[in-house]
Amino acid sequence: MSDVSTTKSMDDIMSLCKRRGFIYQASEIYGGVNGFWDYGPLGAQLKKNLRDAWWQDIVMNPCQGKPGPKGDPVSIVPVDTCIIQNPKVWEASGHVGGFNDPMVDCRETKSRYRADHLFCMGEKGDKSGQIYAFVENNDASFDAALKKLGKYKKKELTKDDIDICPLTDLSVDELAITVGPDAKEVGTLTEPRAFNLMFKTYLGATATEDDIAYLRPETAQGIFINFKNVVDTTRVSVPFGIAQTGKAFRNEVTPRNFTFRSREFEQMEIEFFCHAEEANDWYAFWRDWRMQWWQEIGLAGENLILREHDKDELAHYAKEGAGTSDIEYRFPFTAPGYGELEGIAHRSNYDLNAHQNHPDSNTKLEYLDTTRGELAKNGQPKGERYLPDVIEPSAGLDRGVLAILCEAYTPDPERPSKVFMKFHPRVAPIKAAVFPLVNKDGMPEKAAELHQLLVKKFGHLGKIETDPKQSIGKRYARMDEAGCPFCFTIDGDTLTDGTVTVRDRDTAEQKRIPFDDVVQFVATGLGLT
Ligand code: ATP
Repeated sequence: MSDVSTTKSMDDIMSLCKRRGFIYQASEIYGGVNGFWDYGPLGAQLKKNLRDAWWQDIVMNPCQGKPGPKGDPVSIVPVDTCIIQNPKVWEASGHVGGFNDPMVDCRETKSRYRADHLFCMGEKGDKSGQIYAFVENNDASFDAALKKLGKYKKKELTKDDIDICPLTDLSVDELAITVGPDAKEVGTLTEPRAFNLMFKTYLGATATEDDIAYLRPETAQGIFINFKNVVDTTRVSVPFGIAQTGKAFRNEVTPRNFTFRSREFEQMEIEFFCHAEEANDWYAFWRDWRMQWWQEIGLAGENLILREHDKDELAHYAKEGAGTSDIEYRFPFTAPGYGELEGIAHRSNYDLNAHQNHPDSNTKLEYLDTTRGELAKNGQPKGERYLPDVIEPSAGLDRGVLAILCEAYTPDPERPSKVFMKFHPRVAPIKAAVFPLVNKDGMPEKAAELHQLLVKKFGHLGKIETDPKQSIGKRYARMDEAGCPFCFTIDGDTLTDGTVTVRDRDTAEQKRIPFDDVVQFVATGLGLT
């Protein structure tokens, strides 16, 4: 497995994404719009395949049949809730009051940074000299700051000569002698200011303050506010989960790193409701299974890690002593560090409690568990009412797609395309391609027959490509860049001996198999048998 940090350049990956129609800048013909990305034909299918894989393994066949901590099957039901909800939902959840990132502006360069992403350096032991700020996890920014400090000190400095601290630890006086990451002048950074990340809109025509609503910053709250509906209208019983996928919007201060930090993105979230006594076991179960899932979908190497949070990182809703962990991927732009793909959090009963206690919700959300409580005279439990604890595995679909693109990108100077995309067959946007060697002599008709056969069998899983034009080498090269696992070629021999050539994407090896075995060959390759 390759180390993306050393062998792959983000510029190369982005240029392939554009060239082959995976991802485009949104509103490109108008100069783009910062923090928004559109998916092209291959990207849309890749994203759908990842979302479908999640849906299949969470909703249709939870955890691929793996039993929960007590040996019972895992139970999950889906919902699909609105992007705009009553604004009180976001008051109760804490987003109106607390969904703030501290933000710093540079008066000189007009750049805006998240305060918690800025770090500062000064020469060791020197309290009076200038301080230089740089952007965390950005080597170029770090090197530039070190160079500027060296120039100011009139000597060559290395990492060992400096002290580093978060910008948020600086006093006002220290901020006044700080040079911003891209600035030349001293003291141009503002103090960190809170900034609400929710996009506002107005409901109805009058657009007064009373009509303000918000685009959801996470899909999770749509689940919590429907907890009672789901319990009352279906046959679920705790422990069970509710899952949904959908768009979320955050007015990120500094959208960057391609789709990694966007202002519009898609989440795949599960809220898993369980009794507080069982929450730690369910937390460990979900944490481990979600890690395994990302590995099975093609991120199986040292670029993927599971990181338990330190105590001081815990979010406001996390229970004292309860676990929170991130599944992180080493993207080319975070290397040697990692960026979050999915967070698994033990949220206690924070959200249900907040919605139950909001003065305007007026709804008891407690669950009556008839399997618990003291035993009645008839020997049956009397039941226990409680607000369940929640384990939340919350994944970013766009970040998942980006990690898969980075992992799949495989430079190969020997090939005409110089690169191929080594997608796991389950997510590959094109599942197979059928080519007539030349566009005559009965070959196009035979290719069309095989193409139709494969479309009927596998077309619901992804595209089956066919293309009669150009040299066969060029057609293979195009499929390598698209990450198509298998190409079948119909040639003169096909018409006489009933065999076709199959070319394997990863090895570029070719062999002949009977025409009649192609469907079985693809089924096996896609892991369907
Ligand atoms: P970060 O610390 O990177 O801002 P977060 O901890 O705020 O992320 P969560 O609120 O836990 O993220 O959201 C769950 C998932 O949603 C994340 O793991 C990530 O995959 C995805 N996500 C969050 N913010 C963005 C964004 N701006 N762009 C793309 N995906 C995002």
